[in-house]
Amino acid sequence: MDTLWDQALAELQLVVPSQEFAAWISCLRMAADGDTMTVEAPSQFHRNWVQRHFLERIRSTVETVAGRAVPVQLAVSGEPNATRGGAETASAPPVARRSTPQRGAASPPAGEGPRFDTFVVGPSNELACAAAQAVATGPGRQYNPLCIHGGVGLGKTHLIQAIAHELRARFRSARVLAIGAERFVNEMVSAVRRQQMESFHHRYRRIDTLLVDDVQFIAGKERTQEEFLHTFNLLCAAGKQIVVSSDKPPREIRDLEIGLRSRFEGGLIVEVTQPDRETRRRILAHKAVAAEMTLPPEVLDYLAEHLRGASVRELEGALTRLRASTSLTGRAVDLALAAEIVTPICGGMRNRASADRIEQLVATKFGLEARALRSAGRETRLVLARQLAMYLLRHRLSLSLAAIGERYGRDHSTVLHAVRVIKKRRDCDPEVGRLALALEEQL
Ligand code: ADP
Ligand code: MG
Repeated sequence: MDTLWDQALAELQLVVPSQEFAAWISCLRMAADGDTMTVEAPSQFHRNWVQRHFLERIRSTVETVAGRAVPVQLAVSGEPNATRGGAETASAPPVARRSTPQRGAASPPAGEGPRFDTFVVGPSNELACAAAQAVATGPGRQYNPLCIHGGVGLGKTHLIQAIAHELRARFRSARVLAIGAERFVNEMVSAVRRQQMESFHHRYRRIDTLLVDDVQFIAGKERTQEEFLHTFNLLCAAGKQIVVSSDKPPREIRDLEIGLRSRFEGGLIVEVTQPDRETRRRILAHKAVAAEMTLPPEVLDYLAEHLRGASVRELEGALTRLRASTSLTGRAVDLALAAEIVTPICGGMRNRASADRIEQLVATKFGLEARALRSAGRETRLVLARQLAMYLLRHRLSLSLAAIGERYGRDHSTVLHAVRVIKKRRDCDPEVGRLALALEEQL
């Protein structure tokens, strides 16, 4: 049986934005629950922050869970005479840290969270953003489930968090859970191990909006998928909203259970893609302002132009590096500095662009679409095409087995096998020999 505090935590997780929950609440520990419940924070600063921002929430949640009023007081762990309850003690000097490390972020959450108003919209994401906003204003109505897919660093998690934030702001009492699929898996596994499936079910089935990030992570995990599908069906039947994100469209997620796939496909599927130049420029300008950096217009133009094919995360990386170089060396932000920043990033992107090109060539040769190569399909021709692509990526671009595997949603041993198969067949199978040669000449 969970303690009162465990239950309260599960409840708080539904109502407090996930970053704040992770930073401030998840590391609180219950020290005593007699007539008064004492909850400990890892430091004085932490205690004060929780007191100011979350204590009322915590009190009312504990009261709801307990079914009666339970006074809650905050303390600092490791300090028997910790300042209790009431007023802020202004002078509290930094106390020697106790042994348990403080988890989560220590500084107050920045104003620039993943919200809709910090999301720069352009052709690469406007449909996804509009759908996300529709869900955030009228959950459970039109687009259920909503599935957002696209490559790394293009804003899927941002949109998921923005929906969650907006829902919590609009519908104060809504139970909104935004969770990474990995955590869903871990929670389920630990519930199974501790024989707490009932409370696991209970927890998930009372949710009003469930947002699962990186859902491709549950593919291939039989029991988890079963459990997820079950939760999914129950929530849907009750008119609750579900949003998932994934790195590929549902039909291309390998080993995704057929029931889940058809569920996802029954909703709205939207894609986020790489921003175009104009959007890159606006994203850079927006992020520069947020970071209090001044970028001359010609630097903005230069970065937007040269970071072709960059993800939003790579744009952020460029700004971070720019900022680091100026603050470390005192150099002004000018074109020369921008060029230094851009070169290494472009190296990585050039590889990616060539990888796309190789894939495209192979696909065309086989009369396929490039994305078919990344699918789970097992037809003989498709498998040969895929193996050839892997072989060329390995030999022409010297990509690592792991990197190639990631591209295709396979592990490195599958890639190794593919590379060996082609190497062997080149020599003994004239058709494969011809194909490989023709492709290499085109590159
Ligand atoms: P994904 O989940 O698709 O890998 P994220 O949502 O984590 O990508 O985005 C990577 C980073 O880029 C995050 O810091 C996010 O806030 C930012 N970001 C992504 N898209 C946008 C956008 N359209 N406007 C502003 N910031 C964005
Ligand atoms: Mg993400």
